[in-house]
Amino acid sequence: MTAPDGPIVIAGAGQAGSLMAIYLARQGHDVTVYESRSDLRRHDIDAGRSINLALATRGMVPLIDVGVIDQVDAITIPMRGRMVHAIDDPTPELQPYGQQAHEVIHSVSRTDLNAILLDAAEATGRVAIEFDTQIESVDLQDSVLRFADGRVEPFGLVIGADGAGSRVRKAIAEMGAGRYETEWLDHSYKELTLPPTADGSHLIDPNALHIWPRGQFMLIALANPEGDFTITLFAPTDTFDKLETAGQVDAFFDAEFADFAALVPDLAQQFIENPTGPLGTLRASGWSYEDKAVIVGDAAHAIVPFHGQGMNAAMESARALHRHMSENTDDFAAAFRSYEADRKPDADAIADMALQNYIEMRSGVIDPDYLAKRELALALEQRHPGHISPRYNMVMFSTMPYAEAQSRAATQGDIIAKAIADPTIDIDALVAALPPLPQLDPLADPDALTNS
Ligand SMILES: Cc1cc2nc3c(=O)[nH]c(=O)nc-3n(C[C@H](O)[C@H](O)[C@H](O)COP(=O)(O)OP(=O)(O)OC[C@H]3O[C@@H](n4cnc5c(N)ncnc54)[C@H](O)[C@@H]3O)c2cc1C
Repeated sequence: MTAPDGPIVIAGAGQAGSLMAIYLARQGHDVTVYESRSDLRRHDIDAGRSINLALATRGMVPLIDVGVIDQVDAITIPMRGRMVHAIDDPTPELQPYGQQAHEVIHSVSRTDLNAILLDAAEATGRVAIEFDTQIESVDLQDSVLRFADGRVEPFGLVIGADGAGSRVRKAIAEMGAGRYETEWLDHSYKELTLPPTADGSHLIDPNALHIWPRGQFMLIALANPEGDFTITLFAPTDTFDKLETAGQVDAFFDAEFADFAALVPDLAQQFIENPTGPLGTLRASGWSYEDKAVIVGDAAHAIVPFHGQGMNAAMESARALHRHMSENTDDFAAAFRSYEADRKPDADAIADMALQNYIEMRSGVIDPDYLAKRELALALEQRHPGHISPRYNMVMFSTMPYAEAQSRAATQGDIIAKAIADPTIDIDALVAALPPLPQLDPLADPDALTNS
């Protein structure tokens, strides 16, 4: 890869920024990363941000590329399905994600994952990370970064991995090269903690993603290795507005989530002290400016968290950006355009599917129609492996482009709806006629991915 005319800098040391730094360093570039927060390996700074995340195939493939998958694997907890806690049934029900061994998602600490990526970036010997360094603005006319402390630094290329509020994206838009808007959901979220038992083990099954679906709102739980669970309440914003006192909080949880409430003695205190976060979808177009600036991860496509794909998509986009830069070494402006042409349809598709998955999680998983369709889909998958796969599985357990997963899922959904409406239809013939699925388990042969 040829070097740009001036230093390569990355704004933001989240998953996308630190991964991008490793990819570029491994190709011989010196990179400086500017991060507004303190070094999370030395300071406890993530309070209020999602504590753990669901890692799936699309996020694992880049981790294989850069050689850290074994370290990450050692800190994850596998989740084999959804454990559904119905309001009227004291026994939760496990709905396995899939029928194949690799169809498992992994709970991972955001801090520990980022720490592994930061260590790997620094271990290349080519990446300098400046923490506590807030980029105030990006001047694309004069190719300089202006920092909150008044410092000014030149750059040849700035990669904006600076999250949903990206300054790099703003600068691209100010040059007339990009546009963006955020659609806010009228739902919000709040994180709580389900503590471990006295001997440090998990109070509920750690190997499942727990859901308490309640129609308009839901609670979810992902296990942490320390024995606790990160719990998230997703609900209409006006529900949060009505829960102001300890009495109101206790009454709400006792009525809706009694089994969970019984396990958390300081529930009301946590609820009142912890912040409530907004949820939105950022749709941007024009992801680059000439060969000087490009955005990646949440900076280009922040989505709602209901498919557990924001980080996975961010890392998959970093991989794609690196690939396009490697294929267009003499013309980064062209590389950035082809990267956007490649990824934008996928970013739009996962944004839509993430919104749809909220409805599936908070109400679908207990809806008899949904469950009947899911059962039929799983039976068809057994009868026609390689021709049909549930949408969730194509998104979570493959690297098939998101847009393809979305359109295949629409076709499959039409076939299943037709067969349910008219049982005389030869559904097996319709499914067998679907084009074969691309290989769904890219992790089965990680060596094949190493140098891609
Ligand atoms: C409640 C919740 C649950 C989620 N669960 C999941 C999940 O289960 N699975 C999943 O895949 N995704 C999940 N996500 C999404 C995921 O957190 C993001 O998509 C992912 O972290 C994006 O990574 P990124 O590197 O693009 O951005 P970020 O992680 O936001 O990193 C951006 C970095 O840039 C820094 N920065 C910002 N501005 C500046 C500046 N001006 N100067 C210098 N530095 C700057 C920030 O401090 C930050 O470190 C969830 C999100 C939420 C809110």
